[in-house]
Amino acid sequence: MTELHLHLDGSLRPETVWELAKIQGIDLGAKDIDELKFMMKVPDDCKTLHECLERFDVPLKVLQTADAIERVTFELVEDLSNIGVDYAEIRFAPQLSTEKGLSQDEIVEAAIKGAKRGMEKYPNIKCGLILCCMRNENIEDKNLQTIETAKKYMGDVVCAVDLAGAESLYPTEMFENVFKKANEYNLLRTIHAGEAAGPDSIRKALSYGTKRLGHGVNAIFDKELMEELIDKGVTLEVCVTSNYQTKVVDSIDKHPVKKLFDAGVRVTVNSDNMTVSDTNIHKEIKILKEQLGFTDADIEKMQKYAEEARFIK
Ligand SMILES: [Zn+2]
Repeated sequence: MTELHLHLDGSLRPETVWELAKIQGIDLGAKDIDELKFMMKVPDDCKTLHECLERFDVPLKVLQTADAIERVTFELVEDLSNIGVDYAEIRFAPQLSTEKGLSQDEIVEAAIKGAKRGMEKYPNIKCGLILCCMRNENIEDKNLQTIETAKKYMGDVVCAVDLAGAESLYPTEMFENVFKKANEYNLLRTIHAGEAAGPDSIRKALSYGTKRLGHGVNAIFDKELMEELIDKGVTLEVCVTSNYQTKVVDSIDKHPVKKLFDAGVRVTVNSDNMTVSDTNIHKEIKILKEQLGFTDADIEKMQKYAEEARFIK
């Protein structure tokens, strides 16, 4: 089983977050583990992408030390291995863990260490790390630092860069310089686009040279763009539960993933956030089969697309 789109901070064990908060002397505002679990999960009536993104505030509070980052990366590799994933690309934004003075290099080193420890203990799984730049204002320096860090550690578990965050507030075109630098360094990349914004955002992402898109589902509104995705062999990392929660679609059965797949777009199935969205690759596949009309053969084809698009061969 291959998982291409999974956020580290959205996939932490609540028990670990609880324990880390204790170790670090941080008040998370939860009276017990059940309340913490509730705070780390998207509520059923979540209204906007922004409200969903707030679920990441809690985990990030405890992800400000090297020990914590090493531990949660190890644990995620362990959790993935335990559910039968044999290849996973885990992504996170190093710039969000610098609040207590860690450098992006130190943060990435900690994650590499955790991933390696996981792969040593569970040799049946291979993992890569994708470093996310963030959509925000006045953070070009931080994003460029992420690119430098990616260049430094590329090939040592680190396999690519990404752009994540609030797409409707900070359009893809704001990040021209960041991807210019990524091009200069020949870094592999994927870009979150066509999730909270439309085809223009996807076109801009493609102009940055990406062969993979996080979500990309709003391509469904533009036939020409869909043709372009097919011609260029662009792979879409689709996360159905997450798209429903962030209101990309009103209901699961209205999700365009089957239409994209039937049209010939290279669609893959992914979790996005195992804890925040309370899902995993098996649950996502079940939804595709039970609610969206995918056959076993379709699922197999999607897994093949995922294998062909993975950053570490
Ligand atoms: Zn994502």
